Amino acid sequence: MLGQMQSQPLLISSLIEFAERHHGDGQIVSRRVEGDIHRYTYRDLARRSRQLANALDGLGLAFSDRVATLAWNGYRHMEAYFGVSGSGRVLHTLNPRLHPEQIAWIVNHAEDQVLCFDLTFLPLVQAVQGKCPTVRKWVALCDADRLPQDSGIPGLASYEEWIGGASDQYAWPQFDENTASSMCYTSGTTGHPKAALYSHRSTVLHAYAAALPDVMCLSARDSVLPVVPMFHVNAWGIPYSAALTGCKLVFPGPALDGKSLYELMEAEHVTYAAGVPTVWQMLLGYLKPAGLKFSTLKRTVIGGSACPPAMIASFQDDFGVEVLHAWGMTEMSPLGTLCTLKNQQLDLPPEEQMKIRQKQGRAIYGVDMKIVDGQGREMPWDGKTFGDLLVRGPWIVDSYYKGENPLVHDAQGRGWFPTGDVATIDADGFMQITDRSKDVIKSGGEWISSIDIENIAMAHPAVAMAACVGMPHPKWDERPVVAVVRKPGAELTREELLAFYEGKTAKWQIPDDVVFVDAIPLGATGKMLKTRLREQLAGYRLP
Ligand code: ADP
Repeated sequence: MLGQMQSQPLLISSLIEFAERHHGDGQIVSRRVEGDIHRYTYRDLARRSRQLANALDGLGLAFSDRVATLAWNGYRHMEAYFGVSGSGRVLHTLNPRLHPEQIAWIVNHAEDQVLCFDLTFLPLVQAVQGKCPTVRKWVALCDADRLPQDSGIPGLASYEEWIGGASDQYAWPQFDENTASSMCYTSGTTGHPKAALYSHRSTVLHAYAAALPDVMCLSARDSVLPVVPMFHVNAWGIPYSAALTGCKLVFPGPALDGKSLYELMEAEHVTYAAGVPTVWQMLLGYLKPAGLKFSTLKRTVIGGSACPPAMIASFQDDFGVEVLHAWGMTEMSPLGTLCTLKNQQLDLPPEEQMKIRQKQGRAIYGVDMKIVDGQGREMPWDGKTFGDLLVRGPWIVDSYYKGENPLVHDAQGRGWFPTGDVATIDADGFMQITDRSKDVIKSGGEWISSIDIENIAMAHPAVAMAACVGMPHPKWDERPVVAVVRKPGAELTREELLAFYEGKTAKWQIPDDVVFVDAIPLGATGKMLKTRLREQLAGYRLP
C-alpha cells in the first residue's frame, strides 16, 4: 500500500519560490567587483532569477544545456544558481584559480553553451574564448556602461542589459527531481579534472541537512557570510540553505583579505561564517596584532582541509567564537560530517572537549560511512584503528559526468564511494581524518599522519603555516619533513621547532628536518598543494 500524501518533486525552483513568498524582505548584501556594497532582498533575487530564466529561453537553450560561471560570491552569481537550474539547465561553476588551459579543457568537456563572468576575469576569458567552440554567448556580469569595449570577445553582452530586457514573469517548469541541476569539477591535482553532476533532489536534500542544528544551524535570525567560494562545491550549499531558511546573506565578492572581511562582518553584523583554514589564518593574522574583536560573530564552519587545533582554540579563547570543524568533498555536495558535541559530552573538562572538537565530526543523516582495510573488511569504531574511509548517501556521486563509476560494492551489493581519505572513527561516531591516502607517510612499515605533524607545528607561536611531506629514506622508506612559513617578524630555528615536538608525539614520528620556506604552495581551492611542495623539494636530501 502506498502512502496517500501529496507528491511533489524536490526542485531548486521551489527554494526560491519559498524564499520570495515567506521571507521576501530577507536581505542579500554583496561587495561588488566594482568595489561598492549592493543590497537587495530575496524578492529581488527571485524576480531577477526569473528574468535570467527568460533570457536563457530566449537563446533557445535546451533542457539540461550547461551554463557556466566564472564569478565571485555575489548576488548575480546567486541569480544564476536559481535562474539556470530552476529553468532546467545545468549550472557549471568554474574555478577561476585554475590554469587557463585547464579551464578551456573543462569548458569543452562540459560543452558549456553560455559563460557568465565577473569583470575581474576578463583577461582569463580573453585567454580561453578562442579555445571554447561550444560557448555561443559570453556575458559580462556588469551594467551596460561598464561593458569593456574592444574586448575581442565576439558578441559580448552585459548581463544587466541581457536580463533587463526579459520579462520577470516565469512559471518554473516541473520535471523529474533526479534531473541534473549543477556541476562542479574537482581541482584534479592528478590527471584530468572529474565532474560531480548534482541533481535537484540531491541539492534540496543537502540543503535541508546542511541547515540542521547539529550541522550548519542556519536560521532566519542569522547573518551569514560564505567566504567559501560559490565556485567551490556551491559554497558548501549555503546559497540553497539560505533560501530555505531566509537568513541574511553577506557576499564578500573579490575582497578576501583579513581587513575587508573583518570590516564587512562588523558592518553587516555577521553571526556565522564559513571558509577554509587558510582564509581564517589570514583573518586572525589581521585581527590579533591590531587587537580587534568580533562584536557579532558566534560560529564559524571550517573545512576543506584539516583545521589546526590552535585555530579552534584561538577562535574560542581569544574571540569567543565557536568553530565547527567540517569534512566533505566535491563528490559529496559537499557535507559529510560536522563536529558538534553531544549532550553527554557537554560536562567533559575543556581539554577533553577540545580533543573531540579537533575531529572532523559525526555523520549527518543522509551520509553513512565506514572504514575498511586493504581487503575491504570493516574496521572497528575505536578511535584508534584507521582505514580507508567509504561513504554512501543520496547526495554522494554514483558516477562522474561522462566518466567512470568509482563505487566499491559490499556483500549486499550496495555501492560505497571511496573518499581517498584515511580515518579513524570513535565509539561515539566521531570521525577523524588522519590523512589523504596519498599523503600518509610510510616510515618503517608504520604510518605517520602528516596532519598530526602539521597541527603540532601550527601550535607554535612563531609558525604561520606548516606542511608535512614524506621524503625518501634508504632505511625507513620515508621520513617526515615539515616545511614551515614563519610569522612575519618571528624568529624560529630548526632545533627550536624540533624540540617543540618532544612529548607531543611519539619520538619516531618527530620530523627528521624542518625546511623554512617563504610560502606553502596552495591549490585552486586554497588547500596546501603537497604535490607542488614535493616538486619544490626535489633537490632536497634528508640530513
Ligand atoms: P579537491 O581535491 O578538488 O579540492 P575537494 O574540495 O572535494 O576536492 O576536497 C576533498 C578533500 O579535502 C577530502 O577528501 C579531504 O581529503 C579534504 N578535506 C576536506 N575537509 C577536511 C577536513 N576538515 N579535514 C581534513 N581534510 C579535509
